[in-house]
Amino acid sequence: TLLAGLLLAMLAASGCWLFFLLRYRPGKEISQAIKRNEFYVVYQPLIEARTGRVCGVEALLRWTHPVTGPIPPDAFISYAESQNMIVPLTRHLFALVARDAWLLRRYLPPGATMGINIAPAHLTDNGFRQDVTEWLAAMPQDHFACVFEITERTMVSEQNAAEIFDWLHARQITIAIDDFGTGHSNLIYLEKFCFDYLKIDRGFVQSIGRETITSPVLDAVLNLARKLQLKTVAEGVETGEQAAWLLKRGVTHFQGYLFSRPLPPNELICYLQTRQAA
Ligand code: C2E
Ligand code: CA
Ligand code: CA
Ligand code: CA
Repeated sequence: TLLAGLLLAMLAASGCWLFFLLRYRPGKEISQAIKRNEFYVVYQPLIEARTGRVCGVEALLRWTHPVTGPIPPDAFISYAESQNMIVPLTRHLFALVARDAWLLRRYLPPGATMGINIAPAHLTDNGFRQDVTEWLAAMPQDHFACVFEITERTMVSEQNAAEIFDWLHARQITIAIDDFGTGHSNLIYLEKFCFDYLKIDRGFVQSIGRETITSPVLDAVLNLARKLQLKTVAEGVETGEQAAWLLKRGVTHFQGYLFSRPLPPNELICYLQTRQAA
């Protein structure tokens, strides 16, 4: 028993050391977490505004650290970016999504969108095209319409964006401009690049109903999107009032807590089944 006690104490101590070491070897934490399977993916439904039907999902990464517990995605994504770990992390996300997609395809309609957030550094990475090719080969591609969500800052820094977008389009991958309205919001980009979806940031959406006069910027953006025949996704829709306002102004898709929070695959399946029955 003494030996066992000693062993246990040593194990506990080495565990602490391990944690200590990891803390001071930045970047290693992410690769360790990938190896230990600490990341998982949640999926938030995308709703067709006109019919109220679920027509796709957005994949969002989650990390539950064994010691500190859940870490907010905004925090670990920017940490991964700063440690040059966003490419391996997204590669890992691709693998997790491909695995889940084979299960989810039985519950989502054919042609359902699968949205993935792509970091700017990945888009310019030498291995990007190979990563995408491998991911597509692993996906039930005939069932899903893959959408890459890219933020405005990507266009500013990336001169080859148009070429990359052409390459993606040739592979049936569509492109959404994410968080629109929070960055430079250069309207020129909307005409210059071939986007398929415009995702309106939840900051805009949440001002609906709160302020007496709703943003004239939002009005202008929605008008422009309609003229350019872009599909529009309103993010962070939380109230029926917001949904009604957006529908009246021609927004084509909703995403938000009013419909569903991001859910792990098994809960998403339950949600889809109850909605279908209702
Ligand atoms: P995002 O791409 O704008 O994702 C939408 C965020 O809004 C998600 O936060 C989602 O949970 C949240 N959300 C959705 N509906 C509502 C609502 O009705 N009300 C409120 N208050 N929030 C809502 P989440 O999952 O915390 O992700 C935050 C950000 O982290 C994402 O913003 C995205 O930029 C980044 N992120 C998450 N997963 C990934 C990933 O796999 N790769 C990359 N590159 N970035 C990711
Ligand atoms: Ca997104
Ligand atoms: Ca967004
Ligand atoms: Ca965001």
